[in-house]
Amino acid sequence: MPESNIDHHKLMYHPERISEWFNKGDCAPIYVEIGLTDYCNHKCVFCALDFLEYDKNFIEKDVMMSALEDMASSGVKSIMFAGEGEPLSHKNIGLFTQTAKKYGLDISITTNGILFSETKIEQCLPNLSWIRFSIDSGSSENYALIHGTKPKDFSKLIKNIENTVKFKTKNKLETTIGTQFLAIHQNLDEAIKLAKILRDIGVNNLQIKPYSHHPKSSHQDLSVDSNQYNKIGEQLKEFNSNDFKIIFREVTAKRIEEGVSYPKCYGLPFITLIDSKANIIPCNLFYGREKFTYGNLSKESFKDIWKGDTRKKVLKNMNRQGTEDCRKGCRLDPSNRYLHRLKNPESQDNFI
Ligand code: SF4
Repeated sequence: MPESNIDHHKLMYHPERISEWFNKGDCAPIYVEIGLTDYCNHKCVFCALDFLEYDKNFIEKDVMMSALEDMASSGVKSIMFAGEGEPLSHKNIGLFTQTAKKYGLDISITTNGILFSETKIEQCLPNLSWIRFSIDSGSSENYALIHGTKPKDFSKLIKNIENTVKFKTKNKLETTIGTQFLAIHQNLDEAIKLAKILRDIGVNNLQIKPYSHHPKSSHQDLSVDSNQYNKIGEQLKEFNSNDFKIIFREVTAKRIEEGVSYPKCYGLPFITLIDSKANIIPCNLFYGREKFTYGNLSKESFKDIWKGDTRKKVLKNMNRQGTEDCRKGCRLDPSNRYLHRLKNPESQDNFI
């Protein structure tokens, strides 16, 4: 199977930002992940954020609207609505995607898809570069077990995905319709069943992702061993085609096994998170930790927070703290490996 782009970093496509960071030590973030709410209608067995207390926080409409404008003018290029809870449960999700698109931002949503009604499809899909449905199973009973919900949600989700594909085709949209299967002990036998269903519906891809334990999660480690994981990849090869891609995260799985190999998190200037209380934080290790919060969008603008002293202080603290407690194979892992090498070149690096 060809290696997927998702398995690698994309910093090399932003040379001007890299150069700014390299020369000045900081730059505007390229990508922002926004958790519009901490409410979720499912209770997945693998949820990495089970340590959080859910209060049903929803980002206020006006706060989000001005933050979107401010982020676009600060140099942010893309946004993913995902985060602590289910982004489609925010009543303004349609408006947010429309507004962000209007400001020239690339937008995506990661969702469990249960709330993707025909109205929401119509409001959101034309504004999205991609959407990804977390499915994680190929049958209702197992889906209910993995997602902590009722079995009937499985057919509801499949129907919503079918409607999404139909809407895309009818309106000739470019939006990539992706799906995701997080491989854990409890669902390994479901991948093939799921691939058959999704190929027949006509989604663009199915991503198979390895589990990486969140250091703060109270769940047991649900990782499957690499032989079992790679076996799924082999079995899924036959489904791969030009119309339906199997994105098997083989490189990510290797990186999780290797662990963290750099002394500090270099990539933090390129990426950030906004939580459901409108706090800007460095990464998902720091939900709810005031000491590691850059600022709050209800009180200050995105631009001021990003350039402010509090953020500088947090980054200094993080550099001092190092990466010992970091999550293996985290989102910034491939970027960090690359940036570490830029700062610490090896003797053969000029032989391009
Ligand atoms: S978990 Fe990843 S993104 Fe977060 S601080 Fe560590 S290396 Fe950086």
